[in-house]
Amino acid sequence: MAARSKDAKKVVQYRECQRNHAASIGGHAVDGCREFMASGAEGTACAACGCHRSFHRREVEAGEDRDCSSTSG
Ligand SMILES: [Zn+2]
Repeated sequence: MAARSKDAKKVVQYRECQRNHAASIGGHAVDGCREFMASGAEGTACAACGCHRSFHRREVEAGEDRDCSSTSG
C-alpha cells in the first residue's frame, strides 16, 4: 500500500520559455518552447529547448487556501 497524503500545496507550473536568445546582439528572440518539460538529473532543465527552468514563465495555480502575505505596494 502506498501512503497517500492529501497535498494541498500550491501547484507551480512552468509555461512558455522566455529566454532571449538574441540578447547578446540587442535583439529579442525566443526559442518558441511552449511548455517546460523536466529533464536532467534535478529536473531543472527543459527537455524541449534545453533552457533552465527559471527561463520559463512560472505560473502558480491558486489553491483553495489563499494565504495573504504582506506585499509592498
Ligand atoms: Zn528555452
